[in-house]
Amino acid sequence: MTRNVLVVGASRGIGLEFVRQYGEDGARVVATARSDEGLAAIKAYGGRPLRLDVGRLDSTAGLAWQLDGEAFDVVIVCAGVYGPRKNALDTPTADEFDEVMRTNVLGPMRVIPQLVESLAPGARLVVLSSRMGGIGSRTQSGGWLYRASKAAVNSVLKDTSLALGDRATCVAFHPGWVQTDMGGAGADLTPAQSVSSMRAVIAGLTPADTGRFLDHDGSPIPW
Ligand code: NDP
Repeated sequence: MTRNVLVVGASRGIGLEFVRQYGEDGARVVATARSDEGLAAIKAYGGRPLRLDVGRLDSTAGLAWQLDGEAFDVVIVCAGVYGPRKNALDTPTADEFDEVMRTNVLGPMRVIPQLVESLAPGARLVVLSSRMGGIGSRTQSGGWLYRASKAAVNSVLKDTSLALGDRATCVAFHPGWVQTDMGGAGADLTPAQSVSSMRAVIAGLTPADTGRFLDHDGSPIPW
């Protein structure tokens, strides 16, 4: 059974739902947010809140120190932004590029190394990517910058799995199209459905799954 969970980016949406469900199951949950409202939301679900802005070096630099002594069975990196609703061939501004890449790519590249010493033996390390980041399976354009950021974070996750070897099982997840601020009200899945599906897959992961890109129900997605 999962005893200790860390959720990065849990002020709302899918991250907060992970806090709620793991907490309801009796796990000890540490979760991060960058705003007072987000920290309060985590606390309301029984999680231990930590302030963290994945886009700021002065915030991420102290994470390992803040987690000193903790050993997590499951770590989930959820923080992400969609950025401008611009399609292919519509060049993002430098500021748009910076915000999306800093949050979705540099964020995990800063946060994950800080977590390595806090992984329990056999831990599962999950990054929320998106099917939109898949290149081989792509059949339409749209969300040019967001797609590029998720393709990049898939590479980050794959390299993390190779670097960690048997220390952790690392997967990138597509959570489905989910009814959150990002997914919108018309999406297919509620956060509860998406998270419960991913939790079942996380619970069944074996070391052989490391470095894979999975849909919320566990089916493989081509990189
Ligand atoms: P939401 O927009 O509902 O929530 C985004 C979360 O990321 C919030 O908690 C937000 O915090 C946090 N966040 C954004 N920037 C930062 C930052 N710099 N530092 C810390 N936290 C930050 O999105 P979802 O819950 O829907 O998405 C969660 C993940 O799932 C994302 O990575 C997204 O790309 C991915 N995903 C979602 C899909 C969907 O259909 N919803 C589909 C495919 C992938 P704050 O409240 O402070 O802004």
